[in-house]
Amino acid sequence: MNNELNDDTNKGSSILIVDDNPKNLQVLASILRTSNYKVAMVKDGAKAIKFISSRKPDLILLDIMMPELDGFEVCQKLKQSKTSKDIPIIFISALSETEDKVKGFEAGGVDYITKPFQQQEVLARVKTHLDLRNAYKKLKQAYKDIEIAAKTDSMTKLSNRLDIIEKIKYEQRKYQRSGNPFSLILSDIDNFKLFNDKYGHDCGDFILIAVADIIKSGIRKQDTAARWGGEEFLILLPETDKPGGESTAIKIRERLISKTFEYNEHPHKISMTFGISTFNGQGIDNCIKMADEALYKGKTSGKNCIVLSD
Ligand SMILES: [Mg+2]
Repeated sequence: MNNELNDDTNKGSSILIVDDNPKNLQVLASILRTSNYKVAMVKDGAKAIKFISSRKPDLILLDIMMPELDGFEVCQKLKQSKTSKDIPIIFISALSETEDKVKGFEAGGVDYITKPFQQQEVLARVKTHLDLRNAYKKLKQAYKDIEIAAKTDSMTKLSNRLDIIEKIKYEQRKYQRSGNPFSLILSDIDNFKLFNDKYGHDCGDFILIAVADIIKSGIRKQDTAARWGGEEFLILLPETDKPGGESTAIKIRERLISKTFEYNEHPHKISMTFGISTFNGQGIDNCIKMADEALYKGKTSGKNCIVLSD
């Protein structure tokens, strides 16, 4: 037998066979077991639907001619359910008429095997559809990964500019309905250039990641922290007024200055300066600008402090 039919990708995949003829069940099961598939068998459509309600096989072989519920009806039912709609269904048929094949594809089947069964054909079709399903799953996961990457700063794993701006816009729409303010904290690592210049860029990267972790630890689940620029971070605090923003900044600042960061056996102390603004309908750009001006005020008046915008 062709070894490619026996590669490891689909090894141990589970297959449900649905057929009212016990002989067919046995023949198919023994063919599939030669390729190490896990096989389950049921003898009518109602039992198949019951089986699927608690377990999710990787593929279903489904007989068309069965008493009561026929294969087409079972297939349609499974395709209507969110939990089973992605399971590939291969019809088992003694019929080779085009009309029935079309009907099977319309019901949501992906393929046919015809009786009497040819071992190599059965295995080849099963493998093809398991491979397709795996490729589809991988593609879906890759798409999810890309979506996350597009919103994330790769160094700190915080949100990036694009993501936090989207979230600020969302809070702006909420403000327009509810009138509840939200606050922004723009913060900047003090004397960051010194870390890079004196200890190298790896140390600078280490500091950025350490600061991001402290920020993450100091905000609520509904807040968003983003890497805004080089060593600048922006935090969005939904439904938060200025005193609320200030207490978050105090928490982060205290956690930061109470800690000593070890890099290459050198102890480092880090501080940040914070500017806080609150949205009151003035426009997003303006609200960010106000936080920036407050931050600038803090930088020019000695750093390591928190300044509230007017
Ligand atoms: Mg039958």
